[in-house]
Amino acid sequence: MGVAALALTACSSPGSTTSPTPSPDQPNPAAGAPAVPVASGPYPYGQIQQKAAPIANGEVPVVRRITTDKPYVFITMDDGAIPQPEAPQLIKDSGGHPVLFLNQKYVHGHEAYFKSILDSTGAVLGDHTVDHPNLKGKPYEFQKKEICDDADDLQKGLGQRPTLFRPPFGNYDSNTLKAAAACGMRASVLWSAAVNDGVVQFQVGNKLRPGDIVLMHFRKTFVEDYNAFLAEAKKDGLTPVPLADFLG
Ligand SMILES: [Zn+2]
Repeated sequence: MGVAALALTACSSPGSTTSPTPSPDQPNPAAGAPAVPVASGPYPYGQIQQKAAPIANGEVPVVRRITTDKPYVFITMDDGAIPQPEAPQLIKDSGGHPVLFLNQKYVHGHEAYFKSILDSTGAVLGDHTVDHPNLKGKPYEFQKKEICDDADDLQKGLGQRPTLFRPPFGNYDSNTLKAAAACGMRASVLWSAAVNDGVVQFQVGNKLRPGDIVLMHFRKTFVEDYNAFLAEAKKDGLTPVPLADFLG
């Protein structure tokens, strides 16, 4: 490849320059697991395997990858801009159990589509703000409204209230983490690998590592992107499992 570091882009991201924060395996007394349908896997899905770090100083923990020695990997699907018709069946057949970090502005008018994914695949809903703004540097009240309103709208439209949050573009500040906590989130989830145009981009080395959180989007290339993720995970000996089970 000859490139030292590939940009792991989120949407039309200006790029995240924030430093990774480790996710120690500490109990979170405020945790509440979203419902994940029980399915066969390396463990009974829906059973909490690890806890998110606790909320500290009013801020949710920032999670970039999961610390685990088990051969697990996690897939996340963002925005919802293009609801590709093949996606629900593909997700169901793969057993990939993604977290969908959705914006209300994209869900609006496509509630049945996203609800069908949640109801049939064991996917879990995540909060990604209403309008996908760059939150960093914005006033606390602005940030809180974007995050809380997305949770409220998703609960109303899709019947599931998110408790995991992802800041648009991966950009955040202290107010973001405080607002997320105030809106009932228990972690701010970033990523450690991404799929763009059918190509998996790694943060380190040339393969996925146990505990990697992979970012992709509801785009025109959904099928190519998701199949590229599944093939890479298989090649690297990793099983996609529900992220919520590791952020209980
Ligand atoms: Zn996004």
